[in-house]
Amino acid sequence: MAPDDAVLPLLAPGAELEHLVGGCTWSEGPVWLPDEGPAGGPARGVVRWSDIPGDRVMSYEPATGASGVHRTGVEHLNGRTRAPGGGVVQCSHGRRRVEVERPSPDGGEPLLEVLVDSVDTPEGPRRLNSPNDVVVDAAGSVWFTDPTYGLFQPGEGHPGEREYDGCHVFRLDPDGVLEAVATDFEQPNGLALSPDGDVLYVSDTGRISDRAGDGNHHVRRFAVVTGDDGRRRLTGGEVLHVCERGVVDGFRVDDAGRLWCSSEDAVLVLSPEGELLGRVPVPEVVANVCFGPENAHGGQDLYVAASTSLYRIATRVRGAEPR
Ligand code: MG
Repeated sequence: MAPDDAVLPLLAPGAELEHLVGGCTWSEGPVWLPDEGPAGGPARGVVRWSDIPGDRVMSYEPATGASGVHRTGVEHLNGRTRAPGGGVVQCSHGRRRVEVERPSPDGGEPLLEVLVDSVDTPEGPRRLNSPNDVVVDAAGSVWFTDPTYGLFQPGEGHPGEREYDGCHVFRLDPDGVLEAVATDFEQPNGLALSPDGDVLYVSDTGRISDRAGDGNHHVRRFAVVTGDDGRRRLTGGEVLHVCERGVVDGFRVDDAGRLWCSSEDAVLVLSPEGELLGRVPVPEVVANVCFGPENAHGGQDLYVAASTSLYRIATRVRGAEPR
């Protein structure tokens, strides 16, 4: 179960995967929040992640090793990222929306602000499917994926129907303009920007919802281009990497542009060109990863949300996001 030799230069000397927390149902959507603490506790920084079927959000405090439940009854939150100006941008399957969560100034229940829950169609506004994962670019635009897993996966949302024709990737600008920027996915899932923000990577996990197993299981690469109207859109969309085992659900990019991807049995490290550089084996199905606090090796620890657990491995690289 040791990491491949090829990735050892990217890891801290002698680094081993540590099991930190267990007991979850399906761990997803980790993010490092350096300015937040556990519920009611001091703000020493936490890794926060979702237990989607458990309908709760978990937290782990690297400074103390303490873990616990951040909130329950969260309407099946999934992916999240840091919000500009503080707080967290997060995807809710149950409410079919993207929202911002900020701590309450008086220490009470967190404040929730709806960013978007519907898309305009020729027939009028229609609800989103079940937003899955999200990134925010340097200009404050929110890019998110909208597959249908929350509508049919047991315990991952509420049974429902798709209300617009597709499963799109969307961009929501700070002025409230929402645009579909990619409309040819089976099930768009994880997404991340390159360090310079000029490339958006998006995974397609159609294989999960295709009983025959013929669905997509790859990562695509898009160029982010600015139109005459100043709005950013996508061109290209070629397949960067096909995942051999399972799917690439969520992933993060490091400051050299490498992709640290989930898969069935490992974290895959890909070059910016999509070459598999190596694998860090994980004993459970991996859903997503995030870079955490800086460590003593000039890098950041990588946190791995995998099935029932949260794991960590020390790296010598730094994450390119949240931006
Ligand atoms: Mg996902």
